[in-house]
Amino acid sequence: MRVKRETKPILHRQKCAACNYYTLYQALPAGDQATDTCTHCGHQVTLAWDDGIKAAIKNTERMLKDLEEIYPELKALKAPGDHIRLE
Ligand SMILES: [Zn+2]
Repeated sequence: MRVKRETKPILHRQKCAACNYYTLYQALPAGDQATDTCTHCGHQVTLAWDDGIKAAIKNTERMLKDLEEIYPELKALKAPGDHIRLE
């Protein structure tokens, strides 16, 4: 029996290496890989979609959750295209 693949896009927050904003990224898993796209500038990276990367995404979310206490602006990152710059 085949394991059901995740195909739903996953929105997650991270600092974009291309535009340097904190933005929402959309990861679109396809088999063992995922295309991760910055919803602000369109920068695209291909990720190996494994447990390691999923854990990394969760860790980043946890880190940003903590950062919200210092930078409440991070809470505003909700819809694709949202972006903020932190000092
Ligand atoms: Zn970007």
